[in-house]
Parts: sequence; C-alpha cells; structure tokens
Amino acid sequence: MSRAGAWRPWSAVLVGLLLLAAQAGIGPPAAQAAGSLIVLTDPAPGSTVLVGAGFRIGWTESASPRAPIVARTVAAYVAPKPADGYCANRTYALGWTDTRANRPFSFPVVRLAPLACYYVVVTVTDVNGTSTSARSGYLLGLPARDPAASVTSPAPGAVTTAPPSTFELTWRESASAGVTRRFVTEQSAPMGPDRSCPATGWSSGRTFQPAAPSLEVEGLAEGTCYRYVVAIWDTSGGSASATSGPLLVSSIPPQCVYGDVPTSDGTLDDWARTLLDPTYRLAPRYSPLDLVSTRTLTGVNPSQRVRRVVLADLQAMVDAARAAGAPIDLTSAFRSYVGQQATYEYYAKALGPAGGLLRAARPGHSEHQLGTTIDVMGYDGVSPSNFTDWTVTKAGAWMRDNAWRFGWLMSYPKASSPAMTCYQYEPWHYRYVGRAVAAAVHASGLSLREYLWRHGSITPGA
Ligand SMILES: [Zn+2]
Repeated sequence: MSRAGAWRPWSAVLVGLLLLAAQAGIGPPAAQAAGSLIVLTDPAPGSTVLVGAGFRIGWTESASPRAPIVARTVAAYVAPKPADGYCANRTYALGWTDTRANRPFSFPVVRLAPLACYYVVVTVTDVNGTSTSARSGYLLGLPARDPAASVTSPAPGAVTTAPPSTFELTWRESASAGVTRRFVTEQSAPMGPDRSCPATGWSSGRTFQPAAPSLEVEGLAEGTCYRYVVAIWDTSGGSASATSGPLLVSSIPPQCVYGDVPTSDGTLDDWARTLLDPTYRLAPRYSPLDLVSTRTLTGVNPSQRVRRVVLADLQAMVDAARAAGAPIDLTSAFRSYVGQQATYEYYAKALGPAGGLLRAARPGHSEHQLGTTIDVMGYDGVSPSNFTDWTVTKAGAWMRDNAWRFGWLMSYPKASSPAMTCYQYEPWHYRYVGRAVAAAVHASGLSLREYLWRHGSITPGA
C-alpha cells in the first residue's frame, strides 16, 4: 500500500470527501463489550484509509487471565466502486473469512480491488468459547499506480516489536520504466505508555540509499519507536513513496498471548536458541532425527527419549546429583506434537481450559518437542507436584543451584514466572542449551525466554 504517494488531483478531492464523511460521524459501530475486549486500531472505526493492493489491519486485545484469547477470525466485507467516493452506507457482502489469523494483533488483507470499499470484522474467542467482535474503519482501494511502493516489514498497521539487534526493512516496488533511485528516511519517537508507539511527534534521522528493495538497519536504540519512509524514482522522473508501520525496539519480550507464529529459529540445528512460548511454535512435523533411548544412561528411568546431543551432559548431571546426595530421575523427556496434544488435553480436562493453558503448552509450543528438555524428580520417586515448591527437597534444590553447570536451565524460574516466561513456576522442567549458553544465561539473571528474545533471531512479521 502507499498512503503517501504521487497523488493525482482527483484523489485529493476524494480525500476531502472522505474526511467530510469521517467528520459527519458516518462510520461503523464501536466494539461490543464482553469478556474480552478488542479494538480495531488500523483502520480505526470512523476512518477511511486509501490503500493499494494490500493492507495489514491492526488491533489491540485485552482479556482476563482466567479467560485468555485462543482463536481469532478475520472476515472481510466488500462493496463495489462508490460513485461518490463514500464507503459508508453502502451494501456490503462477505468477501472471505480467514480463521488462520492466529498471529496476535495484525493480519494482512491482500488482493484488494481498485476502487472497491472494504471493512473487516475481527472476532476473538476466549478459552471458554465466548466470542467478541469488532469492526474496522474502511479501506478504499486506489487504482494501480506506476511507479508504486509499499512497505512489507515493519508492515503498516499494528506495532511490530523487535529485539535491539539488526532489523530487515523490506518493501515491494514496481515501476514499468525501471527504478533508478531509492531513498529511505528513518524517523524515531520515544516509546509511549504500555509499549505503544505514538501517532505524532516523529522526528527524522538517518537516511539511506539502498541498491535493492530491502535494508538491514543497525544501531537501533532500546525503548524507541522507529518508522521508515521509502521513496523511489523511475527513469521517467515518476516517484512513489510509502511509510512503514511502527517498529518498537525492546529487549523485553512481547506480552504473553496465545498465537501460532512459526518461531524464527525453528530448524533441528537451532535447538539451543529456539524460542518457544504461547505465541511462537515449532512445526507439527518437527521431530529430531537423533532421538535415543535413556536406556543408554545409567541411574535413570530407561523409558524416555532425548536427543543424542544432551546425553553426555545429562549423564554428568545425574552422576553429580547422586554424588551430592541428591539423586534425580526423569519423569518425562521428548514429547511429540501428537503426544503434547494429549498432555494439553489431559490438563485442560482436569483443570478447566484456562488452568490447562497455564499448566501445559499447546502442541507445537512445548520445549519437550525439542528433544532437549526433561522433567525431573527425586530418585525416591515422590512427584514434584506433591510439593508447593519442589526446591524444598534436596534434589530440587541441587538442580536449581547446579543444573546450569551441566548446560541445563530451569525454563520457568520462580522470580520471572509467569510474567516473563508465560508459564507458571516449574522447578522440575529443565532444558538443555549447552554449557556455554547455560553459563551465559545464568550470569545474565534472565529467564531463558528473555535471553533468547534478546540474543536469538526472532524476526517479527516473518
Ligand atoms: Zn516439562
């Protein structure tokens, strides 16, 4: 899309009419209040946004911790070309519905026809099956431009949050006469309340002249919002420009929300840096090729499977715990996608849907699918769930204090759970990341999720 571009005179008239329409209060009704709250932010109710062939709608959600949102549906409604330029008070028909909108807070609406009006209805459903809907403002498709530009990441619409490392700015461009020059201006603004980015008050900073339609941006500052204005010129002197969505740079991971976004480090080789949480997940077919039986270890439950890469340090840890008078055993290790589905459903049935979500990861989101994660207990066979805090036992305390020396980390430690880890404190759940990474995480004082957000390569919007 290209909200700022080489506008022809008729579009200025059209904008005037649309502004009048907005001021006259002709617009869709506000969000209905229910268990959860959803508010469309882009396009906001009452507004009309002129767009190219695609647009990423954005919204905010809030829900009770007892009834988190677990599903999202986007429905697009379309009306044919408005003779008078108004999108309000037309007859709309359902264009399409997409239930794969399980990426929190934004969804791309693509293949918009020129001079047709659109609005979308986003429906969120909480864990108890209660749904709440909200309707957006209008999108009005503009005729195809030549040249044309639209930013794809950070996409217009919702705020994109990224860790303070490099960020790849990307855009689409077309020019039948050929692109001769590109110019990118960076704008910045301080982060607003609740990790928001402001609508106004941006100041221009660095400029870039990239040779291709992408740009690796470095030197991004913590707690700062950025956006990018991309301008292109063609050989005949025509130009187009487009503005990105806001990019919030924060070393604090995003809020814990349920979604189904493939994690960026999701290959079998990425096991030490794969970030998994209620939003980011593994592919259902992710299954390590080097799983081995724990029968090859001495002194532990032989019925589990782990990746070969953890074997030596797992044996070393088991031996050290025994030598310290705090022997441990395994209760669970590798769990397949299908196995995790059964675990999740078991807890959801026993504890109710909301309790199940806090107690077990949904399939694809469990660290047990990595094959590098174990649940432990004392060798006496008493389940850690018999204790309010398993670290009151000798085995539990030894693991808390020493597992990191052998490359193992408690994924959901007491101090940062569930606020930063998204799961309740689990003193028995350990993930192997290798001795070097474990020592670095231990020294940082961060939970693994915080550390991986900061040091991994999560690509928002990927
Ligand atoms: Zn576990």
